[in-house]
Amino acid sequence: MTDASLGRLAKWLRLLGYDTVVFPQEAGRTLLRQAEAEGRIVLTRRKDMIERQFSGGLFLIPHGDAGRQLNEVIEKYSLKIDGKKMFGICLECNEKLHPVEREEVRDLVPPYVFENCAEYNQCPRCLKIFWMGTHQRNALRFMEKHIPSHLP
Ligand SMILES: [Zn+2]
Repeated sequence: MTDASLGRLAKWLRLLGYDTVVFPQEAGRTLLRQAEAEGRIVLTRRKDMIERQFSGGLFLIPHGDAGRQLNEVIEKYSLKIDGKKMFGICLECNEKLHPVEREEVRDLVPPYVFENCAEYNQCPRCLKIFWMGTHQRNALRFMEKHIPSHLP
């Protein structure tokens, strides 16, 4: 779980397949209580959070740059990225995507995508369709730049 200032980091974690909740406000007692109830690690930029009473894991994120933040989190928790889980979570909703048949998305994706792509996933909450396209390729490039030694 991240505080509201770490939305970009949360998206990168979701891209890698990690269930990541973004707390809608600044870190505080409510965030800690929710993290405790859901058994989540807390990622925050608020230095004073380490002085609070909290039984779970809490990591103070030191840098402003999302690439470095991602690298720090991966190293801190020795995360082993699973290639099969990458791109498996909705970036907006943090919901697990479900595969959908190509025929079902015919009217939902641009025609050139439909012609060129065989596999699609859908978010059960916002119903957005995901496929291997430019976004994913750009994301892979970002990861190759910032976390090359951690990619599967
Ligand atoms: Zn969604």
